[in-house]
Amino acid sequence: MKAAVVTKDKKVSVEEKQLRPLKHGEALVQTEFCGVCHTDLHVKNADFGDVTGVVLGHEGIGKVIEVAEGVTSLKVGDRVSIAWMFESCGHCEYCTTGRETLCRDVKNAGYTVDGAMAEQVIVTADYAVKVPDNLDPAAASSVTCAGVTTYKAVKESHIRPGQWIGVFGVGGLGNLAVQYAKNVFGAKVVAFDINDEKLAFAKELGADVVVNSLNEDPIAKAKELTDGKGLDATVITAVAKTPFNQAIDVVKAGARVVAVGLPVDKMDLDIPRLVLDGIQVVGSLVGTRQDLQEAFQFAAEGKVVPKVALRKIEEINEIFEEMEQGKITGRMVIDFTK
Ligand code: NAD
Ligand code: ZN
Ligand code: ZN
Repeated sequence: MKAAVVTKDKKVSVEEKQLRPLKHGEALVQTEFCGVCHTDLHVKNADFGDVTGVVLGHEGIGKVIEVAEGVTSLKVGDRVSIAWMFESCGHCEYCTTGRETLCRDVKNAGYTVDGAMAEQVIVTADYAVKVPDNLDPAAASSVTCAGVTTYKAVKESHIRPGQWIGVFGVGGLGNLAVQYAKNVFGAKVVAFDINDEKLAFAKELGADVVVNSLNEDPIAKAKELTDGKGLDATVITAVAKTPFNQAIDVVKAGARVVAVGLPVDKMDLDIPRLVLDGIQVVGSLVGTRQDLQEAFQFAAEGKVVPKVALRKIEEINEIFEEMEQGKITGRMVIDFTK
């Protein structure tokens, strides 16, 4: 079967790979679609360490074609996801308190174990979340990382209906953050980006206000929208340091700032601002299996509609170049159905 494998020179080669036989509790999935996340770009570039030889992909959707012994949660024919949260230990302090993504023994698809940018993939059955029947599988791929991550991040922001949330970066993740914030949490949304095309798209999706941070001061705009107080919360999905700092500057006292993007950098935190204004800065990592089920359900109900464009696996290096140049609006999704 064909698979997108990370090479030593930080490229991806599409290679023939042989899968091992299934072990107890595993299932074999025939991939239908796999979205290309900016995290795949970080992984391939060795931003989080060298992973030469790994198969990329953690926005996978496919159908179960075989189950090993011990599998009770899935059957042949089920449509499931292959997410970053691939498997965790199940018994540590994180796993038993609804924080399985933080498990110290977690396995991540397309990073520490082979992922879904391949015609077939082996999954741990109990961790493969089922996809609702009425959700388009190509759209579901985008929810498998971008959707669940932003749904969870907006949850973590503690935003309440009618309040103002700022979304920094409206790319593959951010455009879904706008939709979850608006259509699920009932918030008012201001989208910040440096790319007019992405901002126009955010506006189309229902962002109340869009700001190009290169031409307009995010702090002045946030004050103007809120009678001088500042935004109630922010979520940062941008891949640069500046928006991380801006996301703190635009919020009001007591607000939460949720960090999601992964630029390899440090944030500047003004200590008196943090302490005197009681700002809470939190990191948010993908979501649990339960979060993913919820994120799928809202997409199945049409509250969140991912914008996807289908591509061939052979185009993977081109897709990464387009991503680096900021040319992608929505998500590029590898189509394995043809
Ligand atoms: P993307 O490339 O599709 O989108 C990034 C967006 O940030 C683009 O719209 C870009 O124009 C915008 N941007 C760049 N510089 C900016 C600036 N200075 N100010 C405002 N906006 C700016 O990427 P994506 O797939 O949406 O991923 C975004 C980030 O989130 C990546 O670092 C990725 O690794 C990370 N991520 C984190 C998690 C998590 O669980 N925390 C999950 C998935 C992805
Ligand atoms: Zn991702
Ligand atoms: Zn654990």
